[in-house]
Amino acid sequence: MPEAMVASRASDSASSATTQTVDAAVVGAGFAGLYLLHRLRKAGFSAVLLEEAGDVGGTWYWNRYPGARCDIQTIDYSYSFDPELETAWKWSEKYATQPEILRYLGFVADRYDLRRDIRFGTKVTSATWDQAVQRWQIETDNGAKVSCRYYIMATGCLSAPKPPEIDGVKDFKGEVYFTGRWPHEGVKLAGKRVAVIGTGSSGIQAIPMIAQEAAQLTVFQRTPNFALPAHNGAPPADRLGALEGDRAAYREQARLSMAGVPWPQQTVVSWQLSDAERRERFEAAWAAGDLVYILTQLWADQGVDVDGNKIVADLIREKIRGIVKDPETAAALSPHDHPFGAKRPCLDTNYYATYNRPNVTLVNLRQEPIRAIAATGITTDTRSFDVDVIVFATGFDAMTGAMLAVHPITGRDGKALSDVWANGPQTYLGLTIAGFPNLFMITGPGSPSVLSNMAVSIEQHVDWVVDQLAALRDAGFTTMEATETAQAGWAQHMADCAMLTLHRLANTWYTGANVPGKAQGVMPYTGGVGPYRSICDEVVASGMLGFRLTGPNIAEQCNDGEVVRLQPDVRLVLGLLAQMNLPPLETMGAQGARDFITEFNKGRPAGRPVGEVGDGVLLGADGPLQYKLYRPATPGPHPIVVYFHGGGWVLGDQQSDDPFCRDMCRRTDMIFVSVGYRHAPEHRFPAAAEDGYAATRWIADHAAELGGTPGPVLVAGWSAGGNIAAVTCQLARDRGGPEIAGQLLVCPVTDCSFDRASYIDNATNYFVTRGLMFWFWDLYCSPADRTDPRVSPLRGKLAGLPPAFVTTCEFDPLRDEGIAYAEALAAAGVPVEQLKARGHFHSSFTMVDMVITGVPGRIKMAEALRRFAGLPPEVKPAPQKLEAAAS
Ligand code: NAP
Repeated sequence: MPEAMVASRASDSASSATTQTVDAAVVGAGFAGLYLLHRLRKAGFSAVLLEEAGDVGGTWYWNRYPGARCDIQTIDYSYSFDPELETAWKWSEKYATQPEILRYLGFVADRYDLRRDIRFGTKVTSATWDQAVQRWQIETDNGAKVSCRYYIMATGCLSAPKPPEIDGVKDFKGEVYFTGRWPHEGVKLAGKRVAVIGTGSSGIQAIPMIAQEAAQLTVFQRTPNFALPAHNGAPPADRLGALEGDRAAYREQARLSMAGVPWPQQTVVSWQLSDAERRERFEAAWAAGDLVYILTQLWADQGVDVDGNKIVADLIREKIRGIVKDPETAAALSPHDHPFGAKRPCLDTNYYATYNRPNVTLVNLRQEPIRAIAATGITTDTRSFDVDVIVFATGFDAMTGAMLAVHPITGRDGKALSDVWANGPQTYLGLTIAGFPNLFMITGPGSPSVLSNMAVSIEQHVDWVVDQLAALRDAGFTTMEATETAQAGWAQHMADCAMLTLHRLANTWYTGANVPGKAQGVMPYTGGVGPYRSICDEVVASGMLGFRLTGPNIAEQCNDGEVVRLQPDVRLVLGLLAQMNLPPLETMGAQGARDFITEFNKGRPAGRPVGEVGDGVLLGADGPLQYKLYRPATPGPHPIVVYFHGGGWVLGDQQSDDPFCRDMCRRTDMIFVSVGYRHAPEHRFPAAAEDGYAATRWIADHAAELGGTPGPVLVAGWSAGGNIAAVTCQLARDRGGPEIAGQLLVCPVTDCSFDRASYIDNATNYFVTRGLMFWFWDLYCSPADRTDPRVSPLRGKLAGLPPAFVTTCEFDPLRDEGIAYAEALAAAGVPVEQLKARGHFHSSFTMVDMVITGVPGRIKMAEALRRFAGLPPEVKPAPQKLEAAAS
């Protein structure tokens, strides 16, 4: 039952003397607000929706400029909560116009009888949390105040237009319009001289339409944006067929996808494709006319790697040059200041071709900034333009603007949201804010929102909020508030996610850069729609992790903590592994486990091209051993790194860490020789250790033949390979050489003790388990031998060893023995650097191009190796002749 009476009906709540008492107040009657109202009602809550506009529609109510359309295919940009609604409405176009979308939202409002609880023409003027009664008290500029238990902002991300920030706008005697507040009656532009300032999505949609009508159009562009042809028309038959063929599956795929549109996850990387194959993919995407498609379906590295991205950006710039006839205009229209997709790309109809019209002029504000607006027009540093109309397509104070600028929100203990967010928005899940009980945001900063199909994200946010409110009520709680710990954890996770994509490399409204003085930082959640959904579900499954719940007749509940402590891509990888439900490696037998790893490795992204990869044979401790040599593309000779692969002395071979060796070869500009040392159980201790030492000596002796710099070599290894590298350094010191300039130990095995905290905390769930390590040890080394420094180097003498770089990962059973080794080396006077990788697991750094957040760590490792070799830490980019496959 609703907890309170609705004191006055929304439609007749005109008197400001009364207070309308409801369970929930919602602000904003766009996509989010309408669905919220529907869901709240269905869940038995009394609710009122406050809307400043005269009707439903939200962004689609205000943005009526010529050419306004959605830029996600309309069949995807629709509600999916009610299959009957889905079949009751047919979209006429692939990208519906603003009037059609507005009609749709009106249709939805009528179908669910929503208008009776909406107070139109009503602006909220303040919202204050009243701790005594545990309610939000809302003041409005029209009619009754509202007292509500839950206050839900469905105010949208792009609803507070940004002021023009140009001197003299008030002096202009002609007409002024904002795309985001376009007059309902339309604007007659025929025969007029029109200026458009701004070339974001709004400007790019409006400019071709205005050009057709106006006598003269002058476009003032500060930063060019990437735009792609929409190829609008009827909804494409293949997409429509996929939707209508299995509506539930189609929608479910969208919900689990990264962007909220059901395209598969692309796995092919750019360097696996030839130029011709890349061009073919690009042309298909250009012809498809679909932003999400081109952003996600070309090659897997386009959104996460500057090199993979530059290939797409170059191809788009080539298209622009092909369409725009004047080369200077084409150059001015070509973006170079941001990676493709890092700033919101646009979908257009004839945008670039519009600049071939005789009545259209582009003014490049980077060359001649606007000095002022005067009575008759716009003056730049070099010219004056007399115009009759100025259209500002200058964008929005995005994501936080609608929350902060619209009205003061005061939370617990009189805290003002504007103060709490002074240095940027802080939220938990983008849905709630610590210090603001029972305040919720739909598509708030910290949620996937604008980086996704809004329709899908809105439904997920609304469902989550209403489901939790219902659960709260059923349990007898009346308030719900995020904890500071949970919120700080979310900020950390957001920052980790931001490292995954290229959004951080562009100055955009995503980062607050478009508003002078606004705090900077990537505001939307970049970790993807599907992962975000699973995190929200995990919060619930973990007993409302990170929320404090209170109620008058029930004990307070607070399961405090951070919902994601793993790096986002590590979380994905571990999630995929868990889904595969694999038997433990140690139950497969040595050969079975080797076969499994070989198969498993086939599915990983191919390593990046280097100058040359060759195979050879060297002399180990007891006969020949295979090796694989990775040579940089730059002219040699190069320092040599002797590399030992991971695999618990049992698994792997000289090519099993191929992506890591390639990556490190490129980053260090050094030769990597990966050694195929002998494995247990066929060759038990000390075979691997002795092979490691013998191989290093052989490689040092043959450095010149291998193309290496004469003099000391370096050693490196991961896991059991890190163990062999560490042991090799001790043996080389004790046996009179070879000289080793430095050691890189990545998650090394250093000791035979299994009682350190990391062995217990990370015993299961992180791929390398305590059980697996027991098995490896049993196969390699009998208990009697385990304290020998050739397998437990931590127990050896450590003074006089080469400088070391030791990498350990937070969620690795081997973490603490790696740290112990680094600390013991330092205590023995060996120069040591440590990388304690937060949120990473044992394989984070070797899963190159799968765990993208491993890149900064590998950069540090490469810099260390270069320093050990006496080189400047950074490699000058000098890609020379690469392997044929990559070119
Ligand atoms: P926007 O992308 O922020 O673009 C604003 C434009 O105005 C930019 O070119 C900006 O240049 C320029 N500008 C701002 N202040 C200026 C100044 N003082 N002097 C000169 N130029 C100035 O805004 P938007 O075009 O309204 O689009 C915002 C977002 O709304 C889009 O990214 C999209 O997500 C959404 N949208 C979607 C659709 C759709 O098709 N569904 C349509 C419109 C909008 P700088 O880049 O140099 O700052």
